Amino acid sequence: MKRVIEGATIWDGADSLQHDGAIVIDDGRIEAVLTRAERNQYPLPARVDRIDGHGRLAIPGLVNAHTHLYSSLARGMALPGYAPESFTQILEQLWWRLDKALDPESVRMSALVGAMEAARCGVTTLVDHHASPHAVGGSLSAVCSAVNHDVGLRGVFCYELSDRDGAEIRDQGIEENLRFLSADGETSEMSAGLFGLHASFTLSDESLQAVADRIPEGVGIHIHVAEGPEDEEQCHATHGTKVVDRLKRYGLLRERSILAHCLHVDEDEKDAIAASKAIVVHNPRSNMNNAVGVFDMEGFLNRGIVVGLGTDGLGANMLTELFTAGVLQKLTTGDSLAAGFSDLQKILFDNNPHIAERLLGVKVGRIMPGHASDIAMFDYEPPTPVTAANVLGHLLFGIAVNDLRVSELIVAGRSVIRDHTFAGVDEEAVYEQARSTADALWKRAA
Ligand SMILES: [Zn+2]
Repeated sequence: MKRVIEGATIWDGADSLQHDGAIVIDDGRIEAVLTRAERNQYPLPARVDRIDGHGRLAIPGLVNAHTHLYSSLARGMALPGYAPESFTQILEQLWWRLDKALDPESVRMSALVGAMEAARCGVTTLVDHHASPHAVGGSLSAVCSAVNHDVGLRGVFCYELSDRDGAEIRDQGIEENLRFLSADGETSEMSAGLFGLHASFTLSDESLQAVADRIPEGVGIHIHVAEGPEDEEQCHATHGTKVVDRLKRYGLLRERSILAHCLHVDEDEKDAIAASKAIVVHNPRSNMNNAVGVFDMEGFLNRGIVVGLGTDGLGANMLTELFTAGVLQKLTTGDSLAAGFSDLQKILFDNNPHIAERLLGVKVGRIMPGHASDIAMFDYEPPTPVTAANVLGHLLFGIAVNDLRVSELIVAGRSVIRDHTFAGVDEEAVYEQARSTADALWKRAA
């Protein structure tokens, strides 16, 4: 059945905004975007599903270009003896303790809760980086099923290959990536796979060679690059090269590869990334929380590199992440005009949808005819005029800083959230189950 959103303020994700407009959705695609006058003339069938848009701002569904759904049940976890003195120790004392304790049930619940929280924030596509070293086999299918089928979001999935847990678990990681890429992960508009790698400093040459030998043609990697200074230091000391050059040596700097962070790469490495057309994803709140460094936003954008934005598993809200990306640049450069609206809009509303399109083969990120009908709607009564020229100001200084949640979320034409309520999952029941799953997980991780 066709669906029509009536009476909303509609921003197309680029340069057009209209009040009291309508969006006609047919079979997962946007068929038409209409003004109030056009709406009355438009031929609609007798049976049509009408969604009330009055008092609501409709924007393109958001993309999170780097996250870890497996971190969803870490919230509030006690960490006896937690006293990291470096980024590597943060991984050892927190994240690797948590991921070793994940079993199939906690993998599934983490993905479910993480995807639901993303949906509440207007996210329609997640690019996930998964690790569960004692529950590797089948884990990507479990995460994909929770994201795609239970909640109804699009997703790109990979398993975090690493040598940190020994050769046997590393080999399971290789097989899990390949299995998902060849079976469940066959690219559809809802789901795709990447080959996941943890980071250069936890991967031996033997492991990278195995990836180089077995990664399918055209598939990208998804890896953390120079997140902390030790990634580059270890690479230089052990391999006599830089992280980006090491990946290039194995043929892994590819157009569909995602390099998360890239905080400590040098100018030559940025040039090499630009030449390869690989994707770089910035995660400002995670970087600040781990005290690992500041992203050179201008340096990457000026080279024409596709800079995307992710949360790195710290929260799910892409608009507050974008707000933080802006204020972090202003603070660290001492320039209140740094990271202007045009850069921020480009990152979240051009580059992130472009990343989703590159990986999933679906046109998202615009409310325009022919694009996928991925739409987020906020109950938003603006106290000041909203125009195409200032809508980003409303998103950052109204919706983001006030942490507003969506009232409607549509992915591929289907309602994920309808009038504030999840369409496919019982939120109360999931959260109750999640608390007991988390309790058991924390006991295993202690
Ligand atoms: Zn990450």
